[in-house]
Amino acid sequence: ATPTALLVGTGRAARLGVVIKGPEILESTRTIDTLVWDKTGTLTEETMAVRKVVALEAAPITTDDEQTTSTRAAAAAEPTADTQAVAPDQTAGDAQASGPEQQLLARKSVLALAATVEASSEHPIARAITAAAAEASLRLPVASDFTTSAGLGVSATVDGERITVGKRDFLAQDGIDVPDVAALDLPDELTGATIVWVAAANRAIGAIAVAAPLRSTARQAVDELAALGIDSVLLTGDAEEPAQAVARQVGIDRVHAGVLPADKRDVIAALQETGKFTAMVGDGVNDAAALAQAGVKGLSMAMGSGTDVAIEAADITLMRSDPLAAPLAIRIARATLRIIK
Ligand code: ADP
Ligand code: MG
Repeated sequence: ATPTALLVGTGRAARLGVVIKGPEILESTRTIDTLVWDKTGTLTEETMAVRKVVALEAAPITTDDEQTTSTRAAAAAEPTADTQAVAPDQTAGDAQASGPEQQLLARKSVLALAATVEASSEHPIARAITAAAAEASLRLPVASDFTTSAGLGVSATVDGERITVGKRDFLAQDGIDVPDVAALDLPDELTGATIVWVAAANRAIGAIAVAAPLRSTARQAVDELAALGIDSVLLTGDAEEPAQAVARQVGIDRVHAGVLPADKRDVIAALQETGKFTAMVGDGVNDAAALAQAGVKGLSMAMGSGTDVAIEAADITLMRSDPLAAPLAIRIARATLRIIK
């Protein structure tokens, strides 16, 4: 009777969008006491959008013949008639750039340069930036020598100059001075946004605020897990501020932010060393090693919208991109175990 019950249990789970790799996995759902959540694409929607572009320097222009000429950076983004180069909420001027025309031009060049370099990346941030540039009909310059640094950013050469796009630490690796976020003068609603810095020739020239809405059921999922005796933890490569903003909104107290892809696995291993039985839910290519580690003494779950590597590494695939699928999976698995005992 036992194998039949297992089949019925996993079959029922599959109909609810919870694909369990094998019956042996059910057992680990009993001991789980900690669930580690990935942030981007898991607690938040997978599609990110550009919310604001800030230029730190004005792109010099000459106005004598109404013709706009520009220096290196601005040359990358020839202004078009389309003025929605930046998000619609983009009206405030930047303290650093003088004159509205110069500001717009400088912002366009920041966005165009970033989009050019991001063309080589599949990251949700890259998709957001390239989509925004396309929407603004920006002409993108030619680039070469693309490199991607997992969990940090991307770079490429444009017009003989190295363009670097990514997190603060990434630019700092090249000795680039990155101003405080406060210098960007972002509106309150962008507190939780991911800040992508853009540098040209070793100088920070701008920043792009990118964000994804929180998934509507994220908070309920954390609450349901708590009711099952499972404590939630947030693990992300994103910076402390956006990580804390998401954690606060969903009711998570424990946050590991700014963790490089290679170190995510170590965070899980460290939790396991303190005697925790960890489950992890992730979706990205950068989550695969941590998911595999979670499966060693616990459980790994991949969001169905995620990358193949994440799904491959996971014990359970949550076919619905819904955080509630995580507590559901654990409830079904535990219920199945009760029937067969
Ligand atoms: P997460 O854990 O949120 O899925 P990742 O490990 O994929 O994050 O990336 C961590 C951080 O590295 C991002 O928040 C971003 O700051 C930076 N980053 C990664 N890839 C890119 C990219 N293609 N362009 C710009 N920044 C990037
Ligand atoms: Mg992710």
